[in-house]
Amino acid sequence: MIDIKNYNKDNVFGKILRKEIPSDPVYETEEVYAFKDINPQAPIHVVIIPKKEYCSFDDFSRSSGEKTILAMIRSIAIIADELKLKKGYRIISNIGDFGGQEVPHFHIHILGGKRLGRIIAP
Ligand code: AMP
Repeated sequence: MIDIKNYNKDNVFGKILRKEIPSDPVYETEEVYAFKDINPQAPIHVVIIPKKEYCSFDDFSRSSGEKTILAMIRSIAIIADELKLKKGYRIISNIGDFGGQEVPHFHIHILGGKRLGRIIAP
């Protein structure tokens, strides 16, 4: 079962941040890093992560400082502009087992590039 209370450094996004494995960058600041999802679920699929260590959006929401929260939330619109997602897009953050989270480093998916429909399939 995925642990969303205790951060485990041995996760793929932690490895990407430490440059132990490669990624395809889209946007980077002191606080956040965004890169292309390796298995895109839409024509545009980018993952945004904080550089600080949080297990999930739940952990981030409870524990993060205002500077990091602001940086993460502001980055969404900046990245949407850079990706020219003028017709709209979807953000998703999966939390824990029932939320479908696979990588236990908090991330927000940005999906777009086509009409996505009203709901994600089970
Ligand atoms: P989640 O299910 O919300 O935890 O999403 C994890 C996402 O990470 C999935 O969409 C994967 O395709 C993506 N992913 C896994 N490994 C990599 C990687 N090395 N580079 C980019 N994206 C990855």
